[in-house]
Amino acid sequence: MDRKTLFREAFLEKIGTSPSENVPLSALSSFGIGGPADLFFEARTEGELEKAVALAVVEEYPFYVIGGGNNVLFDDAGYRGLLIRNRLEGIVGEEGRIRVLSGTGLPAILREALSAGLSGLEFLAGIPGTVGGAVYGNAGAYGWSIGDVLETATLLCPGGERQTMTREALRFGYRDSALKQGGGGIVLDAVLSCSPGDTQTSEAKIHDILEKRRTKHPPLGTACAGSYFKNSCSATGERIMAGQLLEQAGARGLAVGDAAVYEKHCNFIINKGNAGSRDVLLLAEELKERVYRKFGVRLEEEVIHLRADASGQ
Ligand SMILES: Cc1cc2nc3c(=O)[nH]c(=O)nc-3n(C[C@H](O)[C@H](O)[C@H](O)COP(=O)(O)OP(=O)(O)OC[C@H]3O[C@@H](n4cnc5c(N)ncnc54)[C@H](O)[C@@H]3O)c2cc1C
Repeated sequence: MDRKTLFREAFLEKIGTSPSENVPLSALSSFGIGGPADLFFEARTEGELEKAVALAVVEEYPFYVIGGGNNVLFDDAGYRGLLIRNRLEGIVGEEGRIRVLSGTGLPAILREALSAGLSGLEFLAGIPGTVGGAVYGNAGAYGWSIGDVLETATLLCPGGERQTMTREALRFGYRDSALKQGGGGIVLDAVLSCSPGDTQTSEAKIHDILEKRRTKHPPLGTACAGSYFKNSCSATGERIMAGQLLEQAGARGLAVGDAAVYEKHCNFIINKGNAGSRDVLLLAEELKERVYRKFGVRLEEEVIHLRADASGQ
């Protein structure tokens, strides 16, 4: 019996259900790209997530946890392991804070904040994905990131224990965190701090943000994974917009196969239909090279390429 079948049987025995086989990752990613994952499982409870991860660790079977798949580029070769989609959903609004399970979508949190009369999370408007993904990459926009409002997060650590981490311990930086730096751990839940606010004012802020995003970002439903590169830092510490560098380096109009630079904002790589990860990676290399040649700046990817043979958080 091969390794996949053995693991699948062990999974059925321990967790009481079988992971699906050969699931196309293109359907799980906003990029619409990716070959099959050997095994795929949607965890809907903390118990399921914990057991699936524990089994993969004990069996030394490669695994990877995703949320909404809005910031990952899956590989054309798929994934040789167990891909777990986090579907732990739930929100409780309390005085001055929101407690949320990590698979909850950011739009749902905004709705809860509005209905509870809480403000401070408006910057999340229009950012797709789950709280877990947002904490991992310190997602944000317009000067605010989730790390600015996170009080604590509970992590499932690589050794199987749970740990409550503070904002400081998670060492948030620009689109960065201790988790992304390889600290390990899966976010199970988070507490976000808010302040009592006026619903109409919050709604107006959200409306403004969504309008701004509408003019700059690809239209809703365009296959992409958000900004492809991080903005860079100048010698004096100022942020230099990657989109501007790319535009001035002649990125507009470039494409490899169906992977193309979005015409209105050069920091978006879009999939025009049949792009593969190879096309995206080749285009991204060309873009980096152009910016380096013109400005001496090395762009760093914000989008995460999951290699077919990668293993675990
Ligand atoms: C149209 C569009 C617009 C976007 N705009 C923005 C923007 O304005 N600002 C911004 O910051 N981002 C933006 N993004 C990127 C994306 O929305 C964010 O990065 C978001 O936080 C990703 O969440 P996700 O659940 O989809 O994560 P995924 O893409 O599923 O995963 C991203 C990474 O997080 C890890 N991860 C996921 N869940 C967990 C967990 N529970 N514990 C530990 N690690 C986990 C995954 O392993 C992976 O490495 C945009 C994307 C799109 C498609």
